[in-house]
Amino acid sequence: MTSDGLTVVWDERFREYRLGPDHPFTEESRALAVRLFAALVPRGDPGADWIDAVDPAPVERLETFHRREYIEFVEAASAAPEPTLLDAGDTPGFPGCFPAAARLVAGAERALERTLEERRPAFHPAGGLHHAHPDRASGFCIFNDVAIAIGRAVQDGRRVAYIDIDAHHGDGVMYGFYDSGRVLDIDFHQDGRTLFPGTGFPNETGRGDGAGLKVNLALPPGAGDDALVPLFRTVVPPLLRTFRPDLIVLQHGVDGHVGDALAQLQYTPAGYAEVDRIVLDLAREVAGGHLLVTGGGGYRAANVSRVLAQAAMVFAGRGNPRADDPLPATWREEFRSMVHETAPRRWGEGPIPTRSGWSTETRAKLLAVLEEELGQRFPAPE
Ligand SMILES: [Zn+2]
Repeated sequence: MTSDGLTVVWDERFREYRLGPDHPFTEESRALAVRLFAALVPRGDPGADWIDAVDPAPVERLETFHRREYIEFVEAASAAPEPTLLDAGDTPGFPGCFPAAARLVAGAERALERTLEERRPAFHPAGGLHHAHPDRASGFCIFNDVAIAIGRAVQDGRRVAYIDIDAHHGDGVMYGFYDSGRVLDIDFHQDGRTLFPGTGFPNETGRGDGAGLKVNLALPPGAGDDALVPLFRTVVPPLLRTFRPDLIVLQHGVDGHVGDALAQLQYTPAGYAEVDRIVLDLAREVAGGHLLVTGGGGYRAANVSRVLAQAAMVFAGRGNPRADDPLPATWREEFRSMVHETAPRRWGEGPIPTRSGWSTETRAKLLAVLEEELGQRFPAPE
């Protein structure tokens, strides 16, 4: 039996993952998402239970994905009195970065344990650091919490469907399980020729036991809900019904939202809600209710906070708020004080997508390339 409701993993110390005062990645917008959700589904409501004390993951857990030398390198950066660089420039190390990054890993593991026990979604909005590689930091990601959680499920003999809707390709996860026959990886992202990390092409389909299980949908800049939602409906359900995962992991980056500061896609809250409902239905249908949802990228606090709060509402079985519903005044006050910007007044207030070059022909072409690479045809959605 699967059940309604959601587990939220949120420890205020997740906010210690702070890459610098002017860095685009901040946990403050995730904190605001959690506060907005809690304003609608308060503590004590059976619609949500909370895990709010999470200790950093021990080195043995980090070592299941990361190399020992890299872990030691992060420990040294963490102990240094001044910020250093962990990669070529995007991912600064900072005093305390080791426990901060390891706590996010533990958050993913606690969410994993909970969804496996309770058969209802578990949400880790602070996580989803999908770019970190075994031997290096990358793209604001120090330790790959989502890969470590997937690796643990695989180690326990489970089959995992990983779905990634972040605007950037989830390279750390895909290459981390490129040979694995136990990880189906479906990744929607902005074309790597136009955006970091420059990978995730349709011809990257896996290797060895993993052959045919890595599915990359690279969308052109400007693509919006009209690209994402029909493609998602066409590709994801049949692949999951064939693969029959024991667990679905959704990396719910929000940097595909129209108006994001770093990417050029144009998804809207309505598109995200649609995708979230499909994933929730699939988790119940094919994965016994086992669904781990993480956050990810997203570089406009107004969008990140509202879309992640909306996702929590959908996964808790409460449905999505309407675009013209007002946002709580107390939350708007917290928004102002945490990110020093004017808060939106309504759920749907924000930038409006412009016309993109996307069309049914573009979709047909993209699907034809994908089918050619994967050697299979996708049925029309029901
Ligand atoms: Zn991203």
